[in-house]
Amino acid sequence: MRYLVLTDIHANLEALDAVVADARARGYDQTLVLGDLVGYGADPNAVVERVRSMKPTAIVRGNHDKVACGVEQADGFNAVAKSAARWTLDVLLPEYRQWLAALPEGPIDVDDTVQICHGSPFDEDAYIFDELDALRALKIASRPLCLFGHTHYPVTFELSADGFDSIGASGAAESVLKMRPGVKYLMNPGSVGQPRDGDPRAAYAIVDTARQCVELMRLKYPVEEAQAKVIRAGLPEVLAQRLAVGR
Ligand code: ZN
Repeated sequence: MRYLVLTDIHANLEALDAVVADARARGYDQTLVLGDLVGYGADPNAVVERVRSMKPTAIVRGNHDKVACGVEQADGFNAVAKSAARWTLDVLLPEYRQWLAALPEGPIDVDDTVQICHGSPFDEDAYIFDELDALRALKIASRPLCLFGHTHYPVTFELSADGFDSIGASGAAESVLKMRPGVKYLMNPGSVGQPRDGDPRAAYAIVDTARQCVELMRLKYPVEEAQAKVIRAGLPEVLAQRLAVGR
């Protein structure tokens, strides 16, 4: 099975379309979505429609999805995120709002190899940045490969009898992580629509369970188009600026 893995699309249709076209050319069977389809970007309706039409095998909600459909208040959000969330709540069609509101909380076990969540397997809203939280997540992960999003920062942590390690993003347009037997992996493939690791290219992954490997991709997309839409929508300008720098 080859799973296309998408996380943190954040209503960036240009990034999503580029990623899906690239993934189709490489070949995949099913789609996994780790949440935050909307929030920040200018195309929440189109992105929800696209993702829904892909009929994901497994999908979990993100914190922005919850706020954008009114399931949760924007209390923990900063001013920019709050203003984008309010805009998204206003423009989302009722049908898509309801669809987002019905998304399940993670983690979800996809098969014998893969588990998905938005923030962490112990709390859907927790950010995994440091090794302590990564270790905690690895210990309770139910599958050899636990995929997460939320930080918009591509990274892989691994836990084996030999110990604990973290592997940063390679920066290459394409890299492959070969999974070894007896090792547990906790991986963030990086954000499709709002990367924050200083690399503006869209990030995504394809998990190949037969070959026991993960292909990690970074892909150029029409950033200027996404930026122009953010400005035209009247969203905070900083949301357009950050797309060009990946911060
Ligand atoms: Zn996010």
